[in-house]
Amino acid sequence: MKTSIATVSLAGDMREKLAAISAAGFDGIEIFEQDFIAFDGSPRDVGRMVRDHGLEIMLFQPFRDFEGLPEPLRARAFDRAERKFEVMQELGTDLILVCSSVHPEALGGIDRMAEDFAELGDRAAARGLRVGFEALAWGRHVYDHRDAWEVVRRADRTNVGVILDSFHTLARRIDPETIRRIPGDRIAFVQLADAPLIEMDLLYWSRHFRNMPGEGDLDVTSFMRAVAATGYAGPLSLEVFNDQFRGGSPRTIAVDGRRSLLNLMDRVVRAEPGIAIQVPAMPPPVVGRGVAFVEFAADDREASELGSLLHRMGFHRAGRHISKAVELWQQGGIRIVLNTDPEGFAHSSHTVHGLNICDVGLSVADAAATAERARVLGASMFRQPAGPGELDIPAIRGVGGGILRFIDDSSDLAKVWETEFRPVEDETAAEAAGLRRIDHVAQTMNYEEMLTWALFYVSLFDVRKQPMVDVVDPGGLVRSQAIESPDGALRITLNGAETHRTFAGRFIADSFGSAVQHVAFTTGDLLATAEILARNGFEPLPIPDNYYADLAARFPLDEDYVDRLRAARILYDQDADGHFLQLYSRPFGDGIFFEIVERAGAYAGYGGPNAPYRVAAQARLMRPVAIPKT
Ligand code: MG
Ligand code: MG
Repeated sequence: MKTSIATVSLAGDMREKLAAISAAGFDGIEIFEQDFIAFDGSPRDVGRMVRDHGLEIMLFQPFRDFEGLPEPLRARAFDRAERKFEVMQELGTDLILVCSSVHPEALGGIDRMAEDFAELGDRAAARGLRVGFEALAWGRHVYDHRDAWEVVRRADRTNVGVILDSFHTLARRIDPETIRRIPGDRIAFVQLADAPLIEMDLLYWSRHFRNMPGEGDLDVTSFMRAVAATGYAGPLSLEVFNDQFRGGSPRTIAVDGRRSLLNLMDRVVRAEPGIAIQVPAMPPPVVGRGVAFVEFAADDREASELGSLLHRMGFHRAGRHISKAVELWQQGGIRIVLNTDPEGFAHSSHTVHGLNICDVGLSVADAAATAERARVLGASMFRQPAGPGELDIPAIRGVGGGILRFIDDSSDLAKVWETEFRPVEDETAAEAAGLRRIDHVAQTMNYEEMLTWALFYVSLFDVRKQPMVDVVDPGGLVRSQAIESPDGALRITLNGAETHRTFAGRFIADSFGSAVQHVAFTTGDLLATAEILARNGFEPLPIPDNYYADLAARFPLDEDYVDRLRAARILYDQDADGHFLQLYSRPFGDGIFFEIVERAGAYAGYGGPNAPYRVAAQARLMRPVAIPKT
């Protein structure tokens, strides 16, 4: 499988783009005319520069408003084509993309258009060039790949093929299964892009909101399965017009792009056995079983304060590391590691971010296979020399430079806690509060990074994305998106902050880009848990009485029940399948907090409608204390 990306998909000048594309491992590029018109050098120089980067130019585009024109416009279109052919020969590429005409004088008629393409094909053949015809979703007469294919079929030239673009097909909701009827050797080129589902003008949607396969909501996998079933074995190219990408880091966009293609093709090969396309081998998408542990990097004072909060939440100190200043805290199936060791990754993480969650352990079926899939998909691997008696747990870099570790039931890893920790008696432990497991881990990031990290999880794991939710913070908007395994065992929420005035944005700024902002635990009975917490001296996040007055108006709840929720400062939500209770700790450090939830029935969400009230309450507590004037 050869991979390619359109130069318009990335920010930067020609040199920066090529360096990023080459470093990410692509085989070639689609070159946009504008890109080298702006370049200070001849087409020959551009071609040489591309090849010096180890890349080939797989496609030259666009050639617009060609087919169906009356004379004398038709003759002029052929003159324009000849000039483009000359440029292509200088560049060193043999395929031109002709997109369906939007010219106001263009005439319809499949045969008229087929004749134009037959003649264009003959002229191109004289120079050893090929022609591809693409149906733009907003083309004047051709806006469906089936019509573009019919034009190509009737033109009947071996060097004229159809170009398929997932955006144009899926944006018009054309059934991608119809692609299976096109012979693979008549498909000249395949362009791939995804997009979020938004109702808007097709042209505007396409030019500004496309993103990488897996980042949006279109079914690019079904599209690509149909393409692969035709026997097409040519390049797969990303053609992504996105305002954010044009202002982003070319390196990140290129790495994301390559990851999205590898992941897409891996899924296609698994779903369509026997297809011709060769894909790098990797273990299958990983089934996440949950969050095995979270690890805090702390200094001694922070660890003692955090320990006291954990006591009040019903956790107990369960073990001490065999050789390092690291403690293991537990309750139910939850493990929290407090690392105050003066050496190693946690220490450097603490130096940069202050108190933070530097390490998240995920339970998977096969830890080594998970790390291998991540490696093939371009993740940065993490290794720290294991100390005496320590296990080498497979790990990669995650959001904010934090570590993601994988733990499975294999003999060694399953025994990590017994191997690396000596049990301790915790004499100061308070009453356990019925917390069972980690429900979700919430990672905060700059809004521009959300697509990157969503793709990171979606490509590595067998997970689905929930629709993005807007959370209104007193300081601005925060976007939130949940990523979860089909059975809900693994849940990670991504929160994208647009400004530093929001609670989430301030967390990123104050913690210098740390990622995990909150960890949510489950209980089977939050009202009972809250009573124990109160006895333990736990102080919940204060929620105003107004919230409860509104709650009684929104849902048909017993007055007594609302009173109990109010007394415990528990938030409530319900959907068609069940209800959801939430209790929050007060924020600590740079704005980290804990959440305790009760999921009743098959409630699917995260209490999104409550988020604005929760955020406002947290922001009030995090406000700098005013020093009275004397
Ligand atoms: Mg296209
Ligand atoms: Mg939450």
